Amino acid sequence: MITFVGAGPGAEDLITVRGLKLLQTADIIVYAGSLVNPELLNNKKENCIVYNSAEMTLEEVMDVMVNGDHEGKEIVRLHTGDPCLYGAIKEQMDWLMREQIKYEVCPGVSSFCGAAAALNAEYTLPGISQSVIITRMAGRTPVPERESIRSFASHQATMTIFLSTGMLLELQKELIAGGYSPDTPAAIVYKATWPEEKVYHCTIDSLARTAKENDIKKIALIVVGRVLNSEYQRSELYHPDFTTEFRKGRKEP
Ligand code: SAH
Repeated sequence: MITFVGAGPGAEDLITVRGLKLLQTADIIVYAGSLVNPELLNNKKENCIVYNSAEMTLEEVMDVMVNGDHEGKEIVRLHTGDPCLYGAIKEQMDWLMREQIKYEVCPGVSSFCGAAAALNAEYTLPGISQSVIITRMAGRTPVPERESIRSFASHQATMTIFLSTGMLLELQKELIAGGYSPDTPAAIVYKATWPEEKVYHCTIDSLARTAKENDIKKIALIVVGRVLNSEYQRSELYHPDFTTEFRKGRKEP
C-alpha cells in the first residue's frame, strides 16, 4: 500500500498519530526533503529505504513507488504540512490510478495552522472576518487571473499567503491595490513550529522591508488581516443569551 502522509509544518511531534505509525512501519519512505523535518526519519524501522524527492523527478519518484508496491512493500510518501495544499500529489495519484495501484492519504497539520499557533491568532473573528483565503503569488507556477491577490484583497478577509516570500514588494502593492489599507496588520512567520521559528509583526506596507531587515527569503508564510490586531465582537456560541444544541440560553432563539 502507498500512503501520502502529511508530515505537519515542521516540529517533529506535529505529525498525526496515524502518520507516525505509518512512518514506523514503512519499508520505503519518499520524503520532500526541501521542507520536511529530517528528524521525522528517526522514526523509521531499521531496514527502511529512504529517498529524498527534492533530488528526484516525478518519473523517478513514481518508479520507486510503483516498483515497491509490486514487491508488496509498505510505502510512505511524506509531504510537508498537509498534502492537499501545493503538494503536487494529484499527478502522483493519477499515475497510480493508471497503474491500478491502491493508495490512501493521511492528512497533516498545514503550515497555515502552525502559523496561527505561532501568532496566537484566531483567523476567524466575529465582525472582522469569517473567511480565510489560502493563496500564493504567481511564480513559476501561474495563478489564474481571476484568483489574483488584488481581487482577493477586495474581500478584506484573512489571507494566508504561501510560496511568496521572495516577492513581498509586489505582494504588498497588490494587496493595497486590491483595497487593503497600507496599515493593515500583517505578519511573516518563518519556519512555523520548527525550533528556529521566527514571528515578525508588521503592516502590509512594511512586509518587504521587514523581510529584508531580518533576512527572510523563504520557508515563510505571510498572514494578512485585521484579525491580527483588532476590536471584535465576542462569539455568539458562548454567549449566555445564545441557545445551542447543548445549552439553553437566556433568550429564546
Ligand atoms: N503542503 C504545505 C505547503 C507546501 S508549499 C502545507 O500544508 O503547509 C511550501 C510553502 O509553504 C513554503 O514556501 C511556505 O510558504 C509554506 N511553509 C511550509 N512550511 C512552513 C513553515 N513551517 N512555516 C512557514 N511557512 C511554511
